[in-house]
Order: sequence, then structure tokens, then C-alpha cells
Amino acid sequence: MSRPNIVFMMSDDHAAHAISAYGSRLNETPHIDRIADEGVRLDKVFCTNSICTPSRASILTGTYSHVNGACSIYSELDYRVPTYSQVLQDSGYQTAIFGKWHLGTTQKANPRGFDDWRIFPGQGDYIDPLMYGPAGEGVVEGYASNIITDLGLEWLGARDTTRPFCLMVHHKAPHRPWVPDEKHRDLYPVGSIPEPETMWDDHASRSHVVQDVGMTIADHLIETDVKEPTPDELLGEENTQARASWKYQRYMRDYLQTIQSVDDNVGRVLDWLDDEGLTENTIVVYTSDQGFFLGDHGWFDKRLMFEESLSMPVVIRWPAEISPRSRCEAIITNVDFAATFLDMCGLDPDEALPENQGRSFRPLLRGEEVQDWPTSMYYRYWEHDDPEHHAPAHYGVRTQTHKYIVYYNDGLGSPGSSDRVLPTEYELYDLVNDPAELTNVVDDPAYKAVREDLENELLRLQNVYGDEPYQGPDTPRLNWSV
Ligand code: CA
Repeated sequence: MSRPNIVFMMSDDHAAHAISAYGSRLNETPHIDRIADEGVRLDKVFCTNSICTPSRASILTGTYSHVNGACSIYSELDYRVPTYSQVLQDSGYQTAIFGKWHLGTTQKANPRGFDDWRIFPGQGDYIDPLMYGPAGEGVVEGYASNIITDLGLEWLGARDTTRPFCLMVHHKAPHRPWVPDEKHRDLYPVGSIPEPETMWDDHASRSHVVQDVGMTIADHLIETDVKEPTPDELLGEENTQARASWKYQRYMRDYLQTIQSVDDNVGRVLDWLDDEGLTENTIVVYTSDQGFFLGDHGWFDKRLMFEESLSMPVVIRWPAEISPRSRCEAIITNVDFAATFLDMCGLDPDEALPENQGRSFRPLLRGEEVQDWPTSMYYRYWEHDDPEHHAPAHYGVRTQTHKYIVYYNDGLGSPGSSDRVLPTEYELYDLVNDPAELTNVVDDPAYKAVREDLENELLRLQNVYGDEPYQGPDTPRLNWSV
């Protein structure tokens, strides 16, 4: 069979628990579900740094943030390591990317390895967005999710049909501030959306820096997020729960409405492939750059290593090779994507990408047992104390059964509490007995041996990936207070 095509659709901040194929209690996503029904649903894919720019850099390069240099949202992709798109283009693929890039807006950070591209500056706008590309810049009228798909389908329609293609359709939805298309304004009305079971998590056993994050539904969703001022009777500490419930309904209404547009447009792409007779040998991927808190633990946003933020939804259809309704439970990361795509296209990832740190999970998708497949993953969030989210830098390890996290702090404290010197803090969660991660058992004597194993595993992974444990305030780091 000829080399496969790739259609890689990625949204922004779309949590798996807002996809019906993953058992969402909140919404219906029939077209994303179709990919899972006709292909494979991956249940343990994790980002290695839960924020937009770094995840995108890891996906393109097959490397961790400390290797590709894109550690934070202010990083630019500087191509110190190559991308899988460059490799595909060099090997004869037609390549294009449309939509959110978010890997820098300077000339040197422009997409490379693409025959055509048109992207938003930064996050971009939902309605009548400015876009730029090799042919210049201009406002494109319409709704972003539709526009991005239009551009992709137009490009496909004009392609050379004798060569394979790799198209990246990168939605900006459902990123904050969640501006829906008018046509979905009636969906998921206020008052109809169930609250998550962990909404009232008191965080009693967690680290101080986690208790202090600026990501709460009650106090950190602002008027532009919920689209109307909070009523006076809901202000004040005594009304925190009622205010959280009020904001949650408005936040989730808009979040879910924007997802509906993404799902509609996934459907348009699938229909196009059917109409063109390209379904059999086109690899179709739907994913998100990371997960998101949907009121879980009382939060919105991402960054932290908890499951809702760490997990990436990934569904893949490739009828030529993947059986319908397959499932994959192996631990996979966004660093593995580049190697997998190159492998699927008949290229050796380690030869094509010399710095590659990922591994092709193609055999797992065929249902093959891979005896030495990794049973743990390494995570590192580099930003520290950004003034808005107050999220602490941390690293950790997740296995099939446990998660161990180190918030290395260093005595700088958090904004608003800068007089407090914080020591390094640790968390350990038993994912078998406490899958919602409500109880930090790091100091529980019953977990002493588990903790030692995880500490060793963390060090081992840092060594494998060429990262280092935090060495104190003189270590180079991304610190927002200096
Ligand atoms: Ca994102």
C-alpha cells in the first residue's frame, strides 16, 4: 500500500472528560466519537508539561521541553531540534498547518517544514480572527473553528493527488475566553450542567503551593470568562460555594458550546475523506494539547500534574492498520507522537530526528504486546509563580498505579504570600485506591516503600531524559518574580 496520509486535528485545552467517547457526563461529541468507534481510543496519554506552547513543541519535535527549549508560553520554537513535519516534507509529503501555532510570532519562529500555513498571532480570536502566512496577513471573517477547517479542506482540494499529505488542523477552541458560535448558543444552558464529584475538594492534605493556586472557579474566573458581572449577593467569603456554582454553569456552558463547533468541524473533515475515497489509508488523529480542569477540585485551567490536566484525549483512526473500537491502556506521552507518525509513514524516527526522545506506539495500536514498553512517565512544569495562576514549578512521575510530585519551591514563596518561605513539598497519590487524587499519602508510613521506589524512578527518568533535579535558587529557571 502507498504511504499513508495524516490528518492531525488538535484542539486547545479540550479535556477528555468533555468527549462522549471518554464517557463525558457533560456533552455529546458524535464526530470525535466516530474516530474512536472506527479506530482506537487511547486512555493513558499524558502531556509532559501541561501548557500550550511546550506541548506543541514536544509534539512536533519528539523531545522534552528542556531539550527543545520551549519551556513556557513565552518560549519560541527556535528549531534547535528538527520537527517531524520537516522530515515528512523532505521525504516527499505535502504538508500544511492551519490555526493555532503559539510557538512564537517572530520570523524565526514561523512554521518550517510546511508547504503552506496560515496561523493566528498568539492565541488568536474566536470571531473574525487575524491570521498570517507566507502570503501575508489579514482578518478572516467568520468563526475560528470553521475557518481553520475551511482552510484545511481548501488546501486538500488543491493538492497534488500523486503524493501523500500531512495536514495539521489546529483549533484554538476551547481555550479561554470560550466564545461560542451563535448557532450553538442554546446548547448546555445554565442550570443543566452537572458539577464534578470533586468540586468541593478541600485540598487539606495537599502542598501549600497547590492550595494557593489562582485557578479556582469561585475566585479566579473573571467577568470576561463568565460574560456577566457576578451578582452582589454572591460576593464575599461566606458565599464562596454559591458563587462557584454560579460561575461554573456559565464557564461550562461556553466551554461546551465551543467544543460543539470543534466537533462539527471534525465531522466535516471525516465526510470529506469519505467523499474523496481517502478514508482507508489516511491516519486521522484527534487530540488536545493537554487536559483541563472542568470544575474538578474546584479549579479551571491546567498546569498541575493532576489527571484532568495531565491527560490528553487521543483517538486515532487508520482502517488499514487499526481495528475498530480498539483500546490502548499503555502509558504514552506527547513526546512519543513524532516518532509514531514517522514510523507510520515508513521512516526511522531515531535516524530522522537525532534528538528524538519518544518511541513509536504504532505496534500498540495494532494490539501487539510490547514487552519493554515504559511503565512510567516523567513530567515537568517549568513556569513558576506566574502572577495570574500562581502555579508552582514541579516535576514528578506517574506509573500505572501511583503518582509522585515534587514542588521544589526554593523559599521564594508565592505572590501575595511572599513573606512566607516555603520548603520543597511533596505529594504522593495512590491512583488505584484514590483515582480522584483527593488524599496526599506522601507521609503515610504505609507508603514508605512506594515512595522510595517512586523517588528512584523519578531520578532514573531524569537521567534517561537528560534533565536534572532542582539544585536551588541559583539554578536557571523560569521565575516570574525576578
Ligand atoms: Ca492548551
